[in-house]
Amino acid sequence: MVQVKVLVVEDEVIVARTIASQLNQLGYIVTGTASSGQAAITKASETKPEIVLMDIILKGDMDGIAAANYIRENLDIPVIYLTAYGDDHTLERAKVTQPFGYIVKPFTIKDLQISIEIALLKHQLECDLRENRDQLATLLNSMSDAVIATDDQGIVTFMNPASEVITGWTREEALGSEVSKVFHLVDEVTDSEIENPVTKVLREHQVVYLANFTSLISRDGKRVPIGDSASPLMRRPDQISGVVVVFWDISERRQTEFLQEALEKEQEVNNLKSLFISTVSHEFRNPLTVIQTAVELIDIQGNNLTEAKRKTYVKRIQSAVQSMKHLMEDVLFMGRAEAGKLVCNPAPINLAIFCRELVEEFSVVENNLHPIVFTCHTSSTDAYMDERILHYMLVNLLSNAVKYSPSGGMVEFDLNSDVIEGVAIFQIRDHGIGIPEADQNQLFESFYRASNVRSIQGTGLGLVIVKRCVDAHQGQITFTSQVDVGTTFTVRLPLHNLPTD
Ligand code: ATP
Ligand code: MG
Repeated sequence: MVQVKVLVVEDEVIVARTIASQLNQLGYIVTGTASSGQAAITKASETKPEIVLMDIILKGDMDGIAAANYIRENLDIPVIYLTAYGDDHTLERAKVTQPFGYIVKPFTIKDLQISIEIALLKHQLECDLRENRDQLATLLNSMSDAVIATDDQGIVTFMNPASEVITGWTREEALGSEVSKVFHLVDEVTDSEIENPVTKVLREHQVVYLANFTSLISRDGKRVPIGDSASPLMRRPDQISGVVVVFWDISERRQTEFLQEALEKEQEVNNLKSLFISTVSHEFRNPLTVIQTAVELIDIQGNNLTEAKRKTYVKRIQSAVQSMKHLMEDVLFMGRAEAGKLVCNPAPINLAIFCRELVEEFSVVENNLHPIVFTCHTSSTDAYMDERILHYMLVNLLSNAVKYSPSGGMVEFDLNSDVIEGVAIFQIRDHGIGIPEADQNQLFESFYRASNVRSIQGTGLGLVIVKRCVDAHQGQITFTSQVDVGTTFTVRLPLHNLPTD
């Protein structure tokens, strides 16, 4: 066992010797004895004892209390008073020096041992506590996250250097202030002040996290986007003693995220462009092959070509040219819409007349294979819309209804208007193959086609175009569909549109 070193300060030489011999008996090492305060300080500095036994009345000007004060403050050695004086005044003076024990003479050897052991233990605990506190302080001071602590009234009691940098408040200025002054938060989107997380923690006794897009307004008015968490400091399970807020500047992270998002968007656009080019060229190749084959057949058969065959080949060529023309128009339209050039040029239009003519024209093109029943449910059909865009939108919806219905299947086209809300409602209903639920979310994406239409020709651009047309009119499009029952598309457009440019 390591022997403990003790310094004995006692002005009576005989008493000093007795104490020293008792200490030796107890197994301690006596590093020396001193009879004056000054001598006690010198011996304590030289021999570095682990504990000092200090009489209060000493020789010379300096008494034991003054000497103990010096030793405790400058040498960090615990002191036990050993004195014949137990009066209140002496006790009060002694208390100021934070002694580790106070033994009133006469005392037994056991009293001495117990006091020394308890003092040593207390001193060790104090050292451990100080070390922990120092470690914690170093940690808080060197961490890059900002930390602010408050008491149970939301008054700032602690700030680390990182929080001084972010808030612009110095520790001295902030301590004792209301936390919402120092930690002032606003919602980045609405610019309105948000409830301080400290207030919330004090009310709810639970950890609180900041919502996204929260900014701190620093002392000089700068906005700093931050992330944070605020936790209660609990004295007992049911008693809150304060709040600790940990927060950090996320400006850089936000910038990286924006950059990453922009890069991903660009990548997506590039991918889409490549897909667009490959799909479009593929779609052009089919009708071109048809034309080429028909022309070659006409050429090979020359004079042997019968009238019936000639008619078949010409028909094939015509239909291939038609589908190329259709595709070409779609691509041009998409190009204009993607370039943001889909300008809405509204003009007065009578919707009932317009829709009826459109259905007639459409039926001729479709060779009347599908009956399209147009019904106008309203008397007020005057509107202010872009006829060209409206035409494109309705033709695409009608051609889908026809294309995805069995031959001869009826298509209903209803026109309605809500004058109070100022909207026209177009509804196109078919009784065709329907759209599987799994595909319904992606229908408005370029080139997307549902899983049940593989054998039916199409590019997957029609609905994208429809959506662009609806957007150009600032309207809405919705649909309901059930496989093998049918599909209904509903478009709501404002009756009176303003030109866009
Ligand atoms: P195109 O570009 O030639 O119009 P498409 O008809 O395949 O080709 P869209 O009009 O964009 O492309 O339609 C996308 C998909 O939505 C279709 O492939 C089809 O799966 C589904 N769809 C659209 N309308 C209907 C409908 N009325 N009934 C069933 N499925 C439909
Ligand atoms: Mg289509």
